Amino acid sequence: MECKVCSEEFVALRNDAMYCSNKCKQRKKNSDNRQRYFSQYCRSCGIEIFTNDRRVSYCSLECRVISKIKRG
Ligand SMILES: [Zn+2]
Ligand SMILES: [Zn+2]
Repeated sequence: MECKVCSEEFVALRNDAMYCSNKCKQRKKNSDNRQRYFSQYCRSCGIEIFTNDRRVSYCSLECRVISKIKRG
């Protein structure tokens, strides 16, 4: 088996084992947490933006201002 994190060869004790050690398992978990970004579309210009903050609705301050002006 090959570890999904460090690519080290290891003997799997279980068929569904994916990591050579708990350390690698933990490392994978940590990187998953960091990648909790999702894509969103700017409400003003429609451009795709990547953010981990659900409150973000605009790609830039400019777009936020423009949409404020449009709304009056
Ligand atoms: Zn590993
Ligand atoms: Zn925009």
